[in-house]
Amino acid sequence: MDNSAESCLTTQLRTNLGEVRNRIAIACRRAGRHPDSVRLVAVTKYSPVSVVEALWSLGEREFGESRPQQLIERAQALNPEICWHQIGRLQRNKVRAVLPYAKWIHSVDSTRLLERISEIAGELSVRPKVLLQVNVSGEPSKQGFAPDELKLLPEAVWSLPHVEIAGLMTMAPDTDELAIIRQVFLGLRRIRSEMQSQGHSLPELSMGMSHDFEIAIEEGATMIRLGSILFEGCD
Ligand SMILES: *Cc1c(COP(=O)(O)O)cnc(C)c1O
Repeated sequence: MDNSAESCLTTQLRTNLGEVRNRIAIACRRAGRHPDSVRLVAVTKYSPVSVVEALWSLGEREFGESRPQQLIERAQALNPEICWHQIGRLQRNKVRAVLPYAKWIHSVDSTRLLERISEIAGELSVRPKVLLQVNVSGEPSKQGFAPDELKLLPEAVWSLPHVEIAGLMTMAPDTDELAIIRQVFLGLRRIRSEMQSQGHSLPELSMGMSHDFEIAIEEGATMIRLGSILFEGCD
């Protein structure tokens, strides 16, 4: 392995991480929040394993993958203490394979998937934390529960035994109009409030990516999923 290239990668990642952590802290201060109230999930879906290892050496412990197969392969090959987050679409036929490795699943977009996760988790004696993905913007191209659908979920779904429904997740529309993005994040927080008034605690809000994480923090994100911004200059 080329050591100079390796350390160059680590140096660049350290710089990027430092800048991102700084921006998280500033956004938290603006919002009157403690920086520890925002968890950074490093999204490594387009990055080689060397990047995951370098981030680990810099103290990152939470990693997000979009494709279950890549999450599984990396979890098997890398440090077992890494906390893996399945952030991309999960098909029901991949649940059994991914559950031994994914502590978090951000992308639960149907009751059938949730029931499947609980069933398999019971068999495997695990209890994943899951987030219900909500299609706040209503774009047909987006996955997730419609807000009204969420409000009508039967109690039996909320009390499935082998999953912990820890919160909600959403994706902002792909637009430069910050007001639209903010509206979506605010929308997720409001849906959470309504759910809370029905007795569901839902402490986590997973929202915010490289281009909009500061807005997400201002609107209450507890988990931000960052990919490209961490890897700038790392080719
Ligand atoms: C790729 C991806 C991200 C990270 O996106 P960036 O814009 O690179 O920060 C976050 N969440 C999900 C669900 C993704 O698929």
